[in-house]
Amino acid sequence: METRTEISSLGEFGLIQRINKGIRTTLPDTVRGIGDDAAVIDLGEEFGLLTTDMFLEGIHFDLTFFPLKHLGYKIIAAGISDVAAMNGIPRQVTVNLALSNRFSVEAVDELYEGMKLACKDFNVDLVGGDTTSSRSGLIISVSVFGKVKKDKIAYRNTAKPNDLLCVTGDLGGAYMGLQLLEREKQVFLANPNMQPELEGKDYVIQRQLRPEARMDVVYELDEAGVIPTSMIDLSDGLASDLLHICAQSGVGAVIFEERLPIDEQTYLAASELNIGAATAALNGGEDYELLFTVSQSAYEQIKNNPKITFIGYITDKKGEVELHTKGDSRVPLTAQGWNA
Ligand code: ADP
Ligand code: MG
Repeated sequence: METRTEISSLGEFGLIQRINKGIRTTLPDTVRGIGDDAAVIDLGEEFGLLTTDMFLEGIHFDLTFFPLKHLGYKIIAAGISDVAAMNGIPRQVTVNLALSNRFSVEAVDELYEGMKLACKDFNVDLVGGDTTSSRSGLIISVSVFGKVKKDKIAYRNTAKPNDLLCVTGDLGGAYMGLQLLEREKQVFLANPNMQPELEGKDYVIQRQLRPEARMDVVYELDEAGVIPTSMIDLSDGLASDLLHICAQSGVGAVIFEERLPIDEQTYLAASELNIGAATAALNGGEDYELLFTVSQSAYEQIKNNPKITFIGYITDKKGEVELHTKGDSRVPLTAQGWNA
């Protein structure tokens, strides 16, 4: 009898680990394969960076409330965020599309309007792709090629004990934006005459529909003469992504609940929907902010940057990632946040 293992028994990360175990890279210019935000390729003078992401209708986005132009912008920004997470500069993107007959030429135009805007904002060229048909909604995949000077690359597996943990922007907004949009969708389905109640919620909605890759911070760190000792972008949520840095670096971390940067609108939406704001900040995905570590000596150079918050530090306790709560207790973080 052949054995059959359910994918759910491994989970996404377990499955990737298993794929990774079965793959050996052989080429001398393959510097880093599976395991970081982008693959790293030796180009001689510099490193090349290559990353790819896939977005499926019904899984990653809901077209009942996601304008196509925003979707186009978001998928490019998401790809670029992975290059930013290597401390790199994005250069070229390719886009693959699978379309069903539900889509018109005008709809495709709108999608590309958003993509073109993102390409302009992040100074990248759209240089190719592939187009095919789909029987189950829209599928988009984006690959981004970037570059980084060899001595400036930031991996996930190089955080050191006593390094400071930093995060850009604020957290949990994209998740709360999604919760509000989902709620309004249900209200609308129940009564199509209802007007959406999204006043004063523009920031969190925008965090969900039109996120930015933090290339601005990549440039500012460079200007400040700071190279992160490790970095990852926040696509899955702070808890999950911090656990990646710690597991891969063989270190632990302590983060402070009261230090978590959370916008006023995120607090308001969280309380309206009965979700803890810290839970949204720890577990909410798609903020596309950067989580990075710096050595203590870099503190002076970046302490006045308003885009950067120090949320904790790295310890030598391998795999132990703890949240210091507002109530002064220490609780272990899991990929789902924490169990108080
Ligand atoms: P990110 O969220 O930064 O895009 P992922 O969690 O998607 O990263 O992927 C983690 C690592 O696993 C990356 O190096 C990615 O290239 C690799 N990876 C993901 N899926 C596959 C796959 N099906 N085959 C090979 N490598 C994969
Ligand atoms: Mg990433």
